[in-house]
Amino acid sequence: MSNLEQTLSIIKPDAVERNLDNEIKEIFKNKGFKIVDEKKIQIEKSEAEKFYKVHETKPFYNDLCSYLSSGPIVVMILEKENAVIANRELMGATNPTEAEEGTIRKKFGISIDKNSVHGSDSIENAKIEIEFFFKD
Ligand code: UDP
Ligand code: MG
Repeated sequence: MSNLEQTLSIIKPDAVERNLDNEIKEIFKNKGFKIVDEKKIQIEKSEAEKFYKVHETKPFYNDLCSYLSSGPIVVMILEKENAVIANRELMGATNPTEAEEGTIRKKFGISIDKNSVHGSDSIENAKIEIEFFFKD
């Protein structure tokens, strides 16, 4: 049964800064993701705070929002069968030291905060996050 989904991916400032965005986009395409839409932008800290609102009580929230707004990012709508879980698998664990071989975070992540990519964690959040960046 076909289950075509869309998910939101962000190539974070640490990866864009190292000019890894094209290489990461090739990885997605080679794994069968279609990049339906994409843009390179820099967001305000207030926008990062809104995007990561789910984490507002966490000790890392302030640094996380400063970081996401610290430089250019590439936001993408990715489409594939079961895209949400497929992207989470391809990204690897939040902490690159715990990420499996072959994942983007294992390959490019610097630390738990500078872990190179974001990906929606559920179908519901994917819809909200795509709306956040692309339905202005
Ligand atoms: N993060 C952090 N310190 C932590 C946990 C998370 O800096 O102890 C950052 C990290 O960049 C992560 C983001 O906060 O990607 C969102 O955390 P989440 O638990 O949602 O991880 P993800 O869904 O990105 O794997
Ligand atoms: Mg998350």
